[in-house]
Amino acid sequence: MSQIIIISAPSGSGKSTLVRNLLVRDPNLIFSVSYTTRAPRGQEEHGREYNFVTREEFRAMIDRGDFIEWAQVFDDFYGTHRCYVDQGRREGKDVILDIDVKGARQLREKIPEAISVFILAPSREELEKRLKARGDVSEQVIRKRVAEAVREIGDYRQYDYVLVNDDVEVASNLLCCIVMTARVQRKNPGMQSRVDRILATFETEQEVEQDYGR
Ligand code: ADP
Ligand code: 5GP
Repeated sequence: MSQIIIISAPSGSGKSTLVRNLLVRDPNLIFSVSYTTRAPRGQEEHGREYNFVTREEFRAMIDRGDFIEWAQVFDDFYGTHRCYVDQGRREGKDVILDIDVKGARQLREKIPEAISVFILAPSREELEKRLKARGDVSEQVIRKRVAEAVREIGDYRQYDYVLVNDDVEVASNLLCCIVMTARVQRKNPGMQSRVDRILATFETEQEVEQDYGR
């Protein structure tokens, strides 16, 4: 049974870096490639980081009910296609979703057992530094993203785990541990049937009594 793992973070916190590291380490994960109306950045490739679509295409997908959640973030639209969650369920793999706080709220309503992780840079100063280091946005956009970060951080209490991305290696290890822990939680939807299958391998009480002539 597959787990849904939601990852949210203010832009520039290092979420993509940590998710990338996690995907390299864990072959039982499927990454949900979101649809977006924004333009590709740097080395981003269609179908890898995002599926890049026009506003008209995005609108048509909303009308068809393709998205399990969607939201406007900054000036663009972003959405999660249902197919990734379905694929995870079909293949028994966990699905990792990199979505904003509005999308996370929608998803928790639809899939209450989803595990959620909020990632934070260690300070505002460090967040600004990382946004600048990425070198793909103007001063004005950076100010806008930092202001948005304050609003997004306000939602952190809704998440199961909070991860401060100070040292990238430590944070990557912790994210890996969270995913592994999620797999062995008793409330994991697949756990009941797994235990039932184990129990079925034991002889029934009646059989035991017969074997021992009791
Ligand atoms: P996000 O996906 O949250 O917008 P990125 O993963 O693109 O953020 O990271 C933003 C920038 O910060 C990148 O240049 C990345 O290499 C850098 N970065 C990520 N994690 C750390 C870290 N722990 N320490 C220093 N720099 C980091
Ligand atoms: P960026 O443009 O920097 O890649 O992403 C901007 C924001 O959009 C990030 O907070 C990211 O998590 C969010 N985002 C990416 N994909 C989705 C999605 O499918 N749905 C929602 N709601 N947000 C998304």
